[in-house]
Amino acid sequence: MANESNGIGFKLNEEQKMMRQMAHDFAANEMLPVAEAYDKKHEYPWPIVRKAQALGLTTMNVPQEYGGMDLTLMEEVIVTEELTWACSGIALAIVINNVAALPVLVAGNEAQKQKYLGQLADGKLAAYCITEPNAGSDAAAIKTTARREGDCYVLNGTKTFITGSTVSDWYAVFAYTNPDEPYKGMSAFIIDRDSPGLSVGKPFEKMGQNASDTGEIFLENARVPVENRLGKEGQGFMIAMKAFDRSRPGVGAIAVGVARRAMEESIKYARERETMGKPIYRHQTIGHMIADMSMQIEAARLLVWQAAWLFDQGRPNVREAATAKAFAADMAMKVCTDAVQIFGGYGYIREYPVEKLMRDVKICQIYEGTSQIQRNIIVRELFR
Ligand SMILES: Cc1cc2nc3c(=O)[nH]c(=O)nc-3n(C[C@H](O)[C@H](O)[C@H](O)COP(=O)(O)OP(=O)(O)OC[C@H]3O[C@@H](n4cnc5c(N)ncnc54)[C@H](O)[C@@H]3O)c2cc1C
Repeated sequence: MANESNGIGFKLNEEQKMMRQMAHDFAANEMLPVAEAYDKKHEYPWPIVRKAQALGLTTMNVPQEYGGMDLTLMEEVIVTEELTWACSGIALAIVINNVAALPVLVAGNEAQKQKYLGQLADGKLAAYCITEPNAGSDAAAIKTTARREGDCYVLNGTKTFITGSTVSDWYAVFAYTNPDEPYKGMSAFIIDRDSPGLSVGKPFEKMGQNASDTGEIFLENARVPVENRLGKEGQGFMIAMKAFDRSRPGVGAIAVGVARRAMEESIKYARERETMGKPIYRHQTIGHMIADMSMQIEAARLLVWQAAWLFDQGRPNVREAATAKAFAADMAMKVCTDAVQIFGGYGYIREYPVEKLMRDVKICQIYEGTSQIQRNIIVRELFR
């Protein structure tokens, strides 16, 4: 987005335009035609994920030296919007690998990056595991422990709502090495799928984003070599928070992509559907609903781009990332609900596209920190 003179601008450079076109073509040709089927089957979209891997979409944030695409966050959010325009469930199955890579990018040493980011580039999959049955918004309240025993840590606990749980080859896991120290006693680890003591539950039946799997990870005396600890003991909470600086604008982009699709479907339908002798967009209430969609989507996209741009500049973006995430998610929920309204009765029927968009987009207000938690962060930053 940046131009050369002052770093502020809205014109995409050639590389960004190329990435957007590549992502749009992939979304339109590979994802859109099968989105409905995967949603209905609640099935993991293996063939699409494999094609996405070949294009580098599961390693967008991984540096080239480890086999990734090394995209800026700006480029990543542009790509993410295009993918989620087609199907946010399939898109999540793809982009979650970039989220799992974040703790390694934030705190991994050279050997860990070579091994685990390299594995992602070679076609393996990964998941990010912090949430537990009794600790979602309150991430510091996790109960999983990691006890040092010689050259290993022994982990005990349960992670839940883990995207990619059933398909992943390794997991970025947060656990307390010192349970008596909230926040400062937490550490981060990479755990291989085949580690003794690690088992994976069945995927949950969800409301939406059904092509992506979400489930539990059980750690029962799971043994992890010391060399798989990310950073120092006690840095886990900091690593989790730093990962959010990059992941939250990404969730904002997911919401923008779904909302844009809902608006496009609404425009098409409102042109074709006639009542009282005219297309429904000529009824002012419907026309204005669509105008509001356009205004809100553009505002959300700019907030997402701002948060991404700050990140790429190496500047703090905590408040801006929370703002972009909450605004985009709340906006997209409203846009998709209005889209169903514009379709009238047909909006409520599975055969029409907007019902899926409304189910899919709800989760954007929940994962990576709920809309309430984002507001708490904004208040905290404003009153700092
Ligand atoms: C489909 C899906 C995929 C997910 N993927 C992952 C993943 O890959 N990895 C992972 O680790 N987690 C994942 N999550 C977990 C997700 O991040 C959490 O569900 C989320 O952070 C909310 O936590 P919770 O469900 O425990 O809700 P709670 O924290 O119990 O919150 C319940 C309600 O109370 C509100 N609330 C809580 N605390 C406060 C407060 N202090 N102030 C105001 N309101 C508050 C919340 O906003 C919410 O409305 C996923 C969840 C889902 C459903």
